[in-house]
Amino acid sequence: MIGMLKDDGLDEHQKKLVAEKRAQYESAIQGGSKQEDSGEFPEGAQLCIKCNTKAAVQMDGCLTCLNCGESKCG
Ligand SMILES: [Zn+2]
Repeated sequence: MIGMLKDDGLDEHQKKLVAEKRAQYESAIQGGSKQEDSGEFPEGAQLCIKCNTKAAVQMDGCLTCLNCGESKCG
């Protein structure tokens, strides 16, 4: 039997992807209202249909989840 996935179920690749997306997003909003890195997702983030977390933000015209990396692009 396969054991439970670590943490919130994200594998290494996914974690890296999410970290990159998040860094990208944060650098994109630089100059605006800087948010404290409290682990919270940005205000105005939308509910991600995949992970049910309010962490989906618009990036380059695509809705991208900063929690699980889900992207509406393509
Ligand atoms: Zn998500």
